[in-house]
Amino acid sequence: MSAFFFYTLFYILISGCIIYPPTEFISAGLTIKDIFSSWLGSENEFFIQYHIKRSVVTVFVHSILPFGYAFGLIVFGHVDIGHENMWLLFVICTAIMPLCTLYKILIWSMNNWSKHPIAQNLAIYSNSNNNNNNVAWTTVASDINVEYRRIDKMIITTNSIICIIATDNWIIKVMPYKILVAHQSDAVLIVNKSDTHDMSLATRGEVQFINIEVKSTRTGAQSFDIRLNALDFKNLQDKVSRPITILQNITFHKTLLDKFIDSFKEQVQENPLYECAEELGQCIGCMQVMSNVKLRKQCSSGIGSGNSEDCMMCYCRPMWCIDCMAKWFASRQDENAPETWLTSKCTCPVCRAKFCILDVCLVQSI
Ligand SMILES: [Zn+2]
Ligand SMILES: [Zn+2]
Ligand SMILES: [Zn+2]
Repeated sequence: MSAFFFYTLFYILISGCIIYPPTEFISAGLTIKDIFSSWLGSENEFFIQYHIKRSVVTVFVHSILPFGYAFGLIVFGHVDIGHENMWLLFVICTAIMPLCTLYKILIWSMNNWSKHPIAQNLAIYSNSNNNNNNVAWTTVASDINVEYRRIDKMIITTNSIICIIATDNWIIKVMPYKILVAHQSDAVLIVNKSDTHDMSLATRGEVQFINIEVKSTRTGAQSFDIRLNALDFKNLQDKVSRPITILQNITFHKTLLDKFIDSFKEQVQENPLYECAEELGQCIGCMQVMSNVKLRKQCSSGIGSGNSEDCMMCYCRPMWCIDCMAKWFASRQDENAPETWLTSKCTCPVCRAKFCILDVCLVQSI
């Protein structure tokens, strides 16, 4: 009984790794596309043909997994199908699955794969009105292949089985069994969801993901969702010729700086206010708003030690707004270690006195 249990557990685990490969499997080259790479050909040269083959292999390998389990049960003697009818039925069912899949693949492959879902999906975008489906989809496919070969395409990996590709004219979502495409000229892109996740201690912070719905106005085209790190949004917007609409109730940080400014403000809100009797002028950074921050040493760093790394008193009057101060602060930090920014120091833009975030006070006019 326990051997049966461990075999089952092991098989489920391995199947899970085949269907949804973890990074260890990917780096070891144990994914379906790596194992069948010689048959699949070059993704870069023949993108669409490659993915038609890849999806077919994926469907087939997945469909054979239950049979592999049943086969193992018999080989290791866990069940005796000669005497247990229920197991016999189970084995037969698992054997029928890959056979049905093979039959389906055979249908798809007829007429140079023109019945395959990917080919059918591309045929929607064909301009030719004739009924020769085969010609229709291959023209679109070769256009996409040509664009995919260009080096300036953008590839965003959502997870180990889904990725998003933006070429000059197309937006493509690659999934295990199919790919979905939208031509940029008739696509409508809407950011309709954002969610924030706390990351491990190592990265110290949070990641934001956004969900973009890609709708095509073309008849018969299927709309699809793409999910990406909010920090990739700007790159995508630069690559896509259409404006990306952001629904009103969705907020997210488009850049690392955006995100930093928000955390900076949050921290400063907690510091004591600086009461100021004199009249304040416009922020000399942006000339857009009134200055509203003052640097005043409040942290306990190096009291009386005279160390040059310690915070110092700044005697400048309030001249900056909090946004400009946050941008200035960020501009003086190590670009490659954003997680250290909030805990690092900066110098006053005018008098060069060192300060840390605890020394930034919002001004309260009295
Ligand atoms: Zn300003
Ligand atoms: Zn100063
Ligand atoms: Zn300080």
